Amino acid sequence: MAGAPHGPDVDVPDLAQRILAGDRQALARGITLVESVAPAHRVAASALLDLLTPHAGKAQRVAVSGVPGAGKSSFIETLGVQLCEAGQRIAVLTIDPSSPVSGGSILGDKTRMARLSRHPSAFIRPSPSSGELGGVRRSTRETMTLCEAAGFGVVLVETVGVGQSEVTVREMVDCFLVLMIAGAGDELQGIKKGIIELADVLVVNKADGENLARAEATRMEFAQALHYLAAAEGTWQPPVLTCSAATGAGVAETWTAVQNFFAHAQGSGAWADRRRAQALAWLHSLVEHELREQFWSHPAVQAARAGMEEAVVAGKISASAAAQQLLWTAQAARAK
Ligand code: GDP
Repeated sequence: MAGAPHGPDVDVPDLAQRILAGDRQALARGITLVESVAPAHRVAASALLDLLTPHAGKAQRVAVSGVPGAGKSSFIETLGVQLCEAGQRIAVLTIDPSSPVSGGSILGDKTRMARLSRHPSAFIRPSPSSGELGGVRRSTRETMTLCEAAGFGVVLVETVGVGQSEVTVREMVDCFLVLMIAGAGDELQGIKKGIIELADVLVVNKADGENLARAEATRMEFAQALHYLAAAEGTWQPPVLTCSAATGAGVAETWTAVQNFFAHAQGSGAWADRRRAQALAWLHSLVEHELREQFWSHPAVQAARAGMEEAVVAGKISASAAAQQLLWTAQAARAK
């Protein structure tokens, strides 16, 4: 692969050393490597992760979720700059919604997080938008490991309100922060989709100017709605705050609420449970992803697939019987 950023001949121990030393260029190269689906790259990526995993796990992993336009990037920029100026190093992983799920790119604007991206203590990396959610989940998890090994103490994962990706991201973080806005409607903001039930901390953004009173009213509505829902994490009652990413008001308080959540979750054992669940969800999803890949790429399955699909569509065979036959085909071919 001449000219590729990483040939299969990448010097993994050297790359690992440089990532551990906090070399940003090496970190970016490592991330490109773990994002690659080429088999030779997967082998190198796996070796890299083996070397770095023992040095990862110390960061606070926080998802920032909310409908498009709620102000997630603006919030992350304001919060990120505040944290960097207080001496923290933060990594921001964004899940680009220009995926098959939602169609066009919402994150087209290159000026997003301009101030933060220039800060030497911040590292911003968009997720690869191609591929299905299983791939996004894998590369985001692995990217997180690399960032933690490189010494970033806070990893913010920005997500969009497309339902499925929220649940996926929730499985990868310690704290799920949801940004709301006044007047977007309950349904739109996911109350009924259960997003609120995933939240550990909620904040109504854009509480500034003429919008201040409406934001406060929305905050009270959500606080009331939450009162009737069981808390996501045992005895923790998710707080509802207001903030303005534009003026910075309430942003530090929101981060304090996140820190309170961490203190509570660490004391109650919920944090450890979540880390355990994250590790297992990762393991299981890797196995399932690999099995699926192996199955569908099997020559015998590929040969039988189209005919079997046609037969199912035409109603000549039940989906259940066709699935059994395909599985049997793969098994029989493997046994030979
Ligand atoms: P995202 O899609 O959730 O990432 O939202 P953005 O951060 O891109 O913000 C969407 C729009 O809302 C942009 O025009 C922002 O300038 C604006 N915005 C974000 N936060 C605030 C805020 O706190 N107050 C006001 N007035 N506008 C905001």
